[in-house]
Amino acid sequence: MTDSNRLDMNSWLSSIVESSEDPIFSKTLEGTIQSWNMAATLMFGYTAEEIIGKNISVITPDELEAEETSIIEQIKRGARILHYETFRLKKDGTKLAVVLSISPIRDKFTRIVGASVIARDQLIQVESEKKKAMLAAIIDSSVDAIISKTLNGIITSWNHGAETILGYTEKDAIGQHITMLIPEDRKQEEEEIISRIRRGERVEHFETIRKRKDGTLIHASITVSPIVLNGKIIGASKILRDISDRIEYKSQLQEQTKKLEELNQSKDQFIGIASHELKTPLTSIKAYLQLLERTVTDSKHKLYVSKTLLFVGKLEELVSDLLDVSKIQAGRLQLNIRECSIREIVENAVESVQHTTSTHQIMITGNGEDNRIKADQNRVEQVIINFLTNAIKYSPLSDRVEVSYWRDELNVLVKVRDFGIGIPEENTEKIFQRFYRVESTSPHISGLGIGLFISCQIIKRHQGEIWVKSVPGKGSEFYFSLPLK
Ligand code: ADP
Repeated sequence: MTDSNRLDMNSWLSSIVESSEDPIFSKTLEGTIQSWNMAATLMFGYTAEEIIGKNISVITPDELEAEETSIIEQIKRGARILHYETFRLKKDGTKLAVVLSISPIRDKFTRIVGASVIARDQLIQVESEKKKAMLAAIIDSSVDAIISKTLNGIITSWNHGAETILGYTEKDAIGQHITMLIPEDRKQEEEEIISRIRRGERVEHFETIRKRKDGTLIHASITVSPIVLNGKIIGASKILRDISDRIEYKSQLQEQTKKLEELNQSKDQFIGIASHELKTPLTSIKAYLQLLERTVTDSKHKLYVSKTLLFVGKLEELVSDLLDVSKIQAGRLQLNIRECSIREIVENAVESVQHTTSTHQIMITGNGEDNRIKADQNRVEQVIINFLTNAIKYSPLSDRVEVSYWRDELNVLVKVRDFGIGIPEENTEKIFQRFYRVESTSPHISGLGIGLFISCQIIKRHQGEIWVKSVPGKGSEFYFSLPLK
């Protein structure tokens, strides 16, 4: 090696030392400091100019002088001292826990003339070891499989979760190619994943199928991230979660939902058929009873027939409500829209309900201003009749029901007010649902729970609104509004 080469070599070496992140300094066997890099300045606070030529005792605590002598003795014998935990002093006098690696320096005759020292901050060292241990513990205790691989697909780490989920032990897996986990028909997935990783992208929650050691398949959700070292992508880490249970649960749920829907459909069909079949004989019974009513002369018999006709009428109402429900369910509720008067609708409804009750007086209150709307008159009457019969049914201790109607800028509004049992707040939305009844407040009052459902559907089909205000124990106010135009 020529002198100029040696010079180059020297400056090359000293630039490495200078740029090292670890503090590096050297000293003679007598303890005189000979070199001092930038990282040493940062750790101890002395610049190179300040400290070169001074004795090492400047940074050695008094009580550790003897330790320094023993180190020098070992160096003189040519020994290297690795990972020596001790304390040194900073320029400001504070003590610093350090880990030292000390090696002998030889001259060209291989005589030992000094020592080089690499120092590390013990705290940082301990912290980083702690961090490493913690990470290792987290990885190992994870129930997910955590696997790392090179960019060529060779497995480089394999945690406990991976053993449990995939069946291979760490020993089996490390060094193998990742494709051993991929079923034949999905092999191209690995290409796609790796090409995304090479571009520095993450693959998140990718749901796929993977193969266990015993050949069985599992549903897996996979997240793959690039492993970057000094700015270069050197591999990929992969978290794999076994979602077989979730997938199975989902498909069970779908199956159950399908079954429920089918059951629900057959129930709707049954209601439709049954109410239709009931309607025909009922109409005949009614017709014969009306004939009988005209022919019997005995007053007692006349009374029996008219009572029977009343109950047949109720039965007819129930059957026709059930028919309406199945029409609504099938989307076949037809409206016969015509221009009509709101006053007439209200008066007709009041009249037809009033003569069925001997306990309640139905009163039309307010100024009763008439307005014309476009609606299915019979269906809107049906809504008011339902409000009125409920108002009577659910106010057994009262004798009065009030009806009023008015208009605002855009709508005609109708209100039916009773002084009955009322409805708890938490039920006021639900009473418009099919078959919903508030059993807790009226266990002895019978009903099918469909009247308000039908009313709600009728009003909504008219682009109107329906709602209720109620105070339990005081009474209820049922409202609907219909657009004027
Ligand atoms: P039904 O009266 O046949 O049960 P509805 O659909 O007409 O069915 O009413 C649903 C439920 O709403 C009733 O069961 C009852 O609990 C409650 N409800 C309706 N109207 C009133 C009212 N005016 N006062 C108190 N509760 C009422």
